[in-house]
Amino acid sequence: MSFDFKSLLEESVRVHGHLCPGQVLGVRMSILGLNEIGIKEPKGKDRKNLIVFIEIDRCATDAVQSVTGCSLGHRTMKFMDYGKMAAAFINLKTKKAVRILAKEEARDKAKEYFPHIEDKYEAQTQAYKIMPDNELFDVMEVEVNIKSEDMPGKPLKRIKCDMCGEYVQDMREVEKNGRILCKLCAYGGYYTAK
Ligand SMILES: [Zn+2]
Ligand SMILES: [Zn+2]
Repeated sequence: MSFDFKSLLEESVRVHGHLCPGQVLGVRMSILGLNEIGIKEPKGKDRKNLIVFIEIDRCATDAVQSVTGCSLGHRTMKFMDYGKMAAAFINLKTKKAVRILAKEEARDKAKEYFPHIEDKYEAQTQAYKIMPDNELFDVMEVEVNIKSEDMPGKPLKRIKCDMCGEYVQDMREVEKNGRILCKLCAYGGYYTAK
């Protein structure tokens, strides 16, 4: 393993704010994913060759961001709101991609590793550091097609919403009854004006 688990965990704990099972799991998952797709320097020479799809917005997400350097702002981390402890790692150069799922059984197995630790989260935190990859994760080879408007780089398009007048980038506009609308105007949004 060319990645240094200990220092990567230290960094993710620093970024995230605390040590938790999610940090350990997220760091382990990222190292495994990067190794599987042959990415050695995610924040260095390989940074333009990597995209991660994350399926949960929980502690581990910060660890994945910390290890891979992928982020929403760079458009290299795609958030899929599935509520699953899983992520896919894609090497854009070779097209190799794997989806890694944290095994449900690992939660209970962690207790067997440290039966004397009463606190479940503490036991998981310690056990996830030493459990073998195959006890922690399922690895699946996958194919991921990323649309050109979802790739990093300059926006392909900027267009004004016919209803609210706000600008929409990256082809997120929709056509409804012959009008070009933003998604908020078309479907309703997460807020209402006061
Ligand atoms: Zn946490
Ligand atoms: Zn609008």
